[in-house]
Amino acid sequence: MDRIGPVSGLGMRTCLAGRVAQVHRDGEEFSVVTEDWQRVRARRVLVTTGLVDELPDVPGLAARWGRDVLHCVYCHGWEVRDRAIGVLGSFHQALLFRQLSEDVTLFPHGGAELTEEQWEQLAGLGVGVVEGQVGALVIDEGQDRLTGVRLVSGVTVPVQELVVAPRFVARAGFLDGLGLTVQEHPMGLGEQVKADGSGFTGVAGVWAAGNVSDVLAGVPQAMAAGVGAAVAINRNLLLDDAGRAAESRTAVPGSGAFRGAMEAEVSRRVLGTRVHGLEGLPHEG
Ligand SMILES: Cc1cc2nc3c(=O)[nH]c(=O)nc-3n(C[C@H](O)[C@H](O)[C@H](O)COP(=O)(O)OP(=O)(O)OC[C@H]3O[C@@H](n4cnc5c(N)ncnc54)[C@H](O)[C@@H]3O)c2cc1C
Repeated sequence: MDRIGPVSGLGMRTCLAGRVAQVHRDGEEFSVVTEDWQRVRARRVLVTTGLVDELPDVPGLAARWGRDVLHCVYCHGWEVRDRAIGVLGSFHQALLFRQLSEDVTLFPHGGAELTEEQWEQLAGLGVGVVEGQVGALVIDEGQDRLTGVRLVSGVTVPVQELVVAPRFVARAGFLDGLGLTVQEHPMGLGEQVKADGSGFTGVAGVWAAGNVSDVLAGVPQAMAAGVGAAVAINRNLLLDDAGRAAESRTAVPGSGAFRGAMEAEVSRRVLGTRVHGLEGLPHEG
């Protein structure tokens, strides 16, 4: 494990390269333990562990993920414009990618039955539909690229790109002990850690940002969520520190700056009625 830090001028910052296996509450703090048993104590935790894309179980598909097996029209739609695009199991994805190519083929692949209306819409947009289970991807190994989709029936349909609709699952299993709430995405696209607008998870001391709490976030949203959570954590720590500072003054009399009530009490005990200007006035015991 590499340890980098402290960074001069910024106080103590430590960056550990390692995989967190567990985070658990330890008194008022947290104990973060890596897979190789490094332990770090933390007053607050910000979870940014992203998500797992659960891909369709088609042989050869995972190996092409992020290359010619795609999912996000806003991420790589432009790069695949005007190409022969197959879409696996998602009517919605077929409509999205139809914006960028006239050559789109939907493979329902045993997914939800298309309604009459959807059939009409696909026909109107010129999207082909090839029914039957997809059994494999056809790869040109020499060129290292996708060339087609092979159905279990043996029929091969040429495509250059294959669009899928993965289920997005927050990578938060290792945080089970913290009591975070993992909930279904409102559009049924997967599951994510519950958090409010500041990233606060509802569990004292724990914030989340990025895909782990918003499976649809792209890079800009994930970055912004990180900034928002950092601001919220900073505020939370400041208030905590201010509270502790006030408590410590109460606990150790005379340790801080002037406090009116305490000075008055000292004067009363030491000087009694001899305080200048108060001689002769009635006073308590
Ligand atoms: C193929 C593909 C293409 C994409 N293209 C785009 C694009 O063009 N534009 C765009 O805006 N978005 C794109 N996205 C989405 C983008 O990747 C995410 O929005 C972004 O990465 C989310 O950032 P994040 O910090 O929440 O999570 P991530 O970037 O996934 O970061 C999570 C980090 O946590 C680490 N981690 C996980 N578990 C642990 C653990 N237990 N201990 C320690 N570390 C851990 C991971 O190793 C990882 O480094 C694409 C996604 C995919 C899959």
